[in-house]
Amino acid sequence: MALFITYFSNVAIDFDVKNQLRKESRYDYINVNMEDGKVIVTDNFVYNENGVIKVVLDVKGNLIKGIYPDASMEKLKPFRKRIREVRCGDTHYYVYDRSIIKGGENGVFKTIAIIRCIVDKSGVSSGYRTLKYASYICAAVIVLLATAISSVFSKKIVEPIKKICDTAENIGDEKNLSQRIEYEGDFQEIKILEQANNRMLDRLEEMFEKQKQFSSDVTHELKTPVSVIMAQCQYARKHIHDKEEFNEAIDLIERQVKKTNSIITQLLQLSRLDQKKAHVDFEYADLSDIVEEVCENEKLKDEKNIHLELSLEKAEARVDVSLLMIAIRNLINNAMKYSDEDSTVDIILKKEKNQVVLTVKDFGCGMSETDKKYIFDRFYRADKARNSEGFGLGLSITAKIVEIHSGTITVESELGEGSTFFMALPEGF
Ligand code: ADP
Repeated sequence: MALFITYFSNVAIDFDVKNQLRKESRYDYINVNMEDGKVIVTDNFVYNENGVIKVVLDVKGNLIKGIYPDASMEKLKPFRKRIREVRCGDTHYYVYDRSIIKGGENGVFKTIAIIRCIVDKSGVSSGYRTLKYASYICAAVIVLLATAISSVFSKKIVEPIKKICDTAENIGDEKNLSQRIEYEGDFQEIKILEQANNRMLDRLEEMFEKQKQFSSDVTHELKTPVSVIMAQCQYARKHIHDKEEFNEAIDLIERQVKKTNSIITQLLQLSRLDQKKAHVDFEYADLSDIVEEVCENEKLKDEKNIHLELSLEKAEARVDVSLLMIAIRNLINNAMKYSDEDSTVDIILKKEKNQVVLTVKDFGCGMSETDKKYIFDRFYRADKARNSEGFGLGLSITAKIVEIHSGTITVESELGEGSTFFMALPEGF
């Protein structure tokens, strides 16, 4: 900044001095004339004005009138093109020569004399020097103020950001996702950052908790059948001697192995769907055919004499048939599982706008408002005692399959009245 001020003030001084010299040389133009071949300088000629010293020279550069500030200047040849800088000892001068051109008796214009204007450079710049120093002080004050203000502001901004980073570090070190960032300052942008971070932490905490719950559920679900198998094996080895009892033990072990296998299969299914590793093969298919096939298969396993009331419109959609079969089977299987003996399940397939909607309505036990919120969560079972067969994975698999098809799944249910599941899939996507 100092260099900038110095440079520009020097340019300004130069410009101003040169202007002044040119101006001063013009004022006395009329005071120099030629009479009878002689140069006459009138008494009105001003030799020293505003620090500018003026002398009159003949065309060859010899002094006619005036006094040089320094005698050595007498040797200076006339130079009319521009202002010169001349050094005499330690003093620097600006010198400007102006030709006085006037018409003679014969009407011919010619140079009759020269007005030489001289100014001491240091004298001129002294007025500017004060201005220059004032500029230096102003610049320094501005720099100091800017530094102070920016340091205050940066402290106010940097501190909360540092706090956010510290909280993030703490979470990483302590694995404690319950910590939140607190900002009480006035910066709106930091408030937005704080809220966004806290929302992210909320979601992370929820996901982390779900993950923990999921791991413990998997362990629990697998541990139970494996413990039964272990106990049965130990009991058989020690106490069973006849074939009938032995077969019973084998049956029990087989049931538990099937259960374990079923959990593992469903978990694998979910994990493949989660990681998008499941082979998905979309094709246009008639959903009424798929629903019919699923119903026939489910009817074969039915031990409660449930009546499946079908109302199926022909409706094509772009689906992965084998995945969709799993989703529809889970819905119909649940409807039958949670219905009383001899009851009816309505299964309706309809085209609505650009969607195909499958409705599975049962008149079974239904579910509470709270349960409705969580039934699509992994391992969630509304009433664990009521259904010892399931593991709470079926609906999460169904929801995932529907998501892969860009569809939606919703439920309406009344405790004791029954439940209705709506699965809507786009005809093509
Ligand atoms: P499960 O294998 O336990 O049936 P799901 O994921 O299919 O697992 O279902 C989760 C829970 O939702 C079930 O345990 C049950 O409590 C509830 N549920 C699902 N379908 C119905 C239904 N049609 N009627 C009542 N409750 C249901």
